[in-house]
Amino acid sequence: MSHPPLTHLSEEETLFRDSVLDFAKKRVAPLVSEMDEKGALDPALLPSLFELGLMGVEIPETYGGAGSSFFNAILAVEALAVVDPSVSVLVDVQNTLVANALLRWSNDAQKEKYLPRLCKDWVGSYALSEAGSGSDAFALQARATQKDGRWVLNGRKLWITNANESSLFLVLANVDPSKGYRGITAFLVERSFPGFSVGKKENKLGIRASSTCELVLEDCEVPAENVLGEVGKGYKIAIETLNEGRIGIGAQMIGLAQGAFDQAMRYMIERKQFGQSIASFQGMQFQYARVATEIEAARLMVYNAARRKDAGLPFLKEAAMAKLFSSEVAERTASLCVEFFGGVGFTKEYPAEKFFRDAKIGKIYEGTSNMQLATIAKLLQSEYEVKG
Ligand SMILES: Cc1cc2nc3c(=O)[nH]c(=O)nc-3n(C[C@H](O)[C@H](O)[C@H](O)COP(=O)(O)OP(=O)(O)OC[C@H]3O[C@@H](n4cnc5c(N)ncnc54)[C@H](O)[C@@H]3O)c2cc1C
Repeated sequence: MSHPPLTHLSEEETLFRDSVLDFAKKRVAPLVSEMDEKGALDPALLPSLFELGLMGVEIPETYGGAGSSFFNAILAVEALAVVDPSVSVLVDVQNTLVANALLRWSNDAQKEKYLPRLCKDWVGSYALSEAGSGSDAFALQARATQKDGRWVLNGRKLWITNANESSLFLVLANVDPSKGYRGITAFLVERSFPGFSVGKKENKLGIRASSTCELVLEDCEVPAENVLGEVGKGYKIAIETLNEGRIGIGAQMIGLAQGAFDQAMRYMIERKQFGQSIASFQGMQFQYARVATEIEAARLMVYNAARRKDAGLPFLKEAAMAKLFSSEVAERTASLCVEFFGGVGFTKEYPAEKFFRDAKIGKIYEGTSNMQLATIAKLLQSEYEVKG
């Protein structure tokens, strides 16, 4: 990012953020356009992400992780998104959803088995959504039944990020639909389990290098010991993981906004019309000054939510607000940046149009903007009811 180190980052955090940004600029940037065009991640990037410790930021060192904070995971997601929001979401899902859920809910044997793999060479996916259940996530139809001491899973999951690259899938299925959401259970499903397959890959508007696929569970056999947490408590795992995960999407969106803005500013300084830099026209200045202010506000909201989570303070409302606002800021910023570039902003020769396409997802996944507003409103209502 072009701004000086933010005063509210420690020296260690600044160094970490800058090292991720440096990697993104040197190693990811040259691949971005081709990955977007092909709609696929360059697999050569994965080993570096593991080597840099970006795939297990919060996982303790005893399991091979970086043993760092949730805040640092957020910094990594932000820094990667400055260059490519697709690589950013791969790291985001791995850390804020999959590793996070395992750290919080897995037993010792599961930790021993899966955490070292997630730090070394296994990508993870989080599989909640289905064709008929998105915002109404707990209406999911995937079923799990017990047979010969194993679980047998049947159903289809849709929109699963990282599915092409993943070896481990956190799958939510219902063991007893008569109990409603209290039947929902979380399972650790390996790609190699019989009856598991990755289906159709979506051809998307944005974050095209991030794989988004269907999962097919056809009598998928899962060992009894692969239930994550307790049977019937999957709904709690799903909600609580997403509560934290959405701070990661906020981070992806502020990184994206900063990436689009950095490129547009450089262009506006250089580009001359009427004999002067277009950045010197007041009509442009007032627009980019506002954009920079909004990015800063969104960043402070995301950092605040992440800091509160690390400090063990309530963060639900702050996280929902941060995700809501940063996805709005990202969309507005990316849209204006296309205009700041003028005609070339509308072409694939310049990065603005890709950031514009990528930005759209922020308002959709890990709870649409309406769902964030509903959460914020519910929390406000109960706050004010208590206060009277
Ligand atoms: C690229 C991509 C990656 C994804 N990755 C994952 C993943 O890794 N794992 C996973 O499990 N899922 C994933 N998803 C799914 C994503 O979380 C859902 O698409 C999202 O939650 C919205 O659900 P839906 O698509 O069914 O939309 P719907 O729920 O049908 O919503 C459609 C519209 O209706 C509105 N709406 C719905 N209900 C209400 C209400 N009660 N009040 C007001 N408005 C409402 C919504 O805000 C939205 O505008 C991904 C999706 C995409 C596109």
